[in-house]
Amino acid sequence: MSRIEEYISNNSAFVASQSTISLAARQKFGLDVRAKRGDCGQSEFAKSLHLSLSQGTLSKIESGDQSISAAKLRALAKKLDFQMDLKLASVDPPSRCGCCENPDCHTVSIGCDNTNLFFVPTKYRIESVRGKCPVGHPLNTKCKSCGSPIDENSTHLCSSCGQPLIDLDVVRASLFSAVFLADFERLKASKASSLLTQPSEDLRRRVKEFAAEVGKENEKRDQLLSRLTRGL
Ligand SMILES: [Zn+2]
Ligand SMILES: [Zn+2]
Repeated sequence: MSRIEEYISNNSAFVASQSTISLAARQKFGLDVRAKRGDCGQSEFAKSLHLSLSQGTLSKIESGDQSISAAKLRALAKKLDFQMDLKLASVDPPSRCGCCENPDCHTVSIGCDNTNLFFVPTKYRIESVRGKCPVGHPLNTKCKSCGSPIDENSTHLCSSCGQPLIDLDVVRASLFSAVFLADFERLKASKASSLLTQPSEDLRRRVKEFAAEVGKENEKRDQLLSRLTRGL
């Protein structure tokens, strides 16, 4: 589990707002709410719940409208003692995954091995194509190279074609730290020439320095992310 995933799983409000409830489950829940309301008018019923629910929202809930957040539905289910129903009805698998492709975003962490620098997006399960990362960037749901949907098995590489989900060209075109990239290029250059000219001790030191830099950059991003998403 990445530090960001850990953060999200520790933040129940965020989880509640992101989790998926299927359309069928929403519609069934809506009918149950309608039955519970009986002869009472929508405004009166909404007021009696003390959940700051408007008549309009209640009406949407009763019709199974997908714009109502899962958190709101759960709060209402709890109030009406429907929690089991909603829980049972919401076990449908999430429809798709998306990830933020913005290399400057704090939900994207940096990895490197001996020869490559790569960017690891966090995957989020989303209900529609319009999901957003916690910072507010739109999530991409398809691999740019082959068009396959991004799934649970994609790491920093697409699970269908093996291409990176965020490639270095995108990173170079972004606001991403030019100093950081220059260091990586320097490291790569010195590795390429090491057989001839560079003593291996020097190269080892450079690799170590770069790994420390990657760690520091990731830490900085995590701190920024938790600052930005505090209180969600
Ligand atoms: Zn983002
Ligand atoms: Zn692909």
